[in-house]
Amino acid sequence: MKDQEILEIKKARAEITRASQYRDLDLIWWDTIGVAAEALDRLTPKKPIVETDDFDDRSVCCPHCIGPVTNYWAPGTKPKHCQFCGQALDWGEGAEG
Ligand SMILES: [Zn+2]
Repeated sequence: MKDQEILEIKKARAEITRASQYRDLDLIWWDTIGVAAEALDRLTPKKPIVETDDFDDRSVCCPHCIGPVTNYWAPGTKPKHCQFCGQALDWGEGAEG
């Protein structure tokens, strides 16, 4: 993720925090703020998690939707986003297949 993108996300996050402090917002704005906050959350890279299935096979999974982002046949794959929900993934360290 580029520095400029990180800066934009931080700015947007600050705006969401500011907007959420207005107590008399219409309900529709709360929905909008919620959607925006969730979208920002998906754009912010998070470390994948390791899940073990019923057959004791380990899968590297999305931290948001727990969908498998790598599988037994492609353990070295490191996608930038979850194919199921779009969560940005951080492969910086650990959590490798
Ligand atoms: Zn996901």
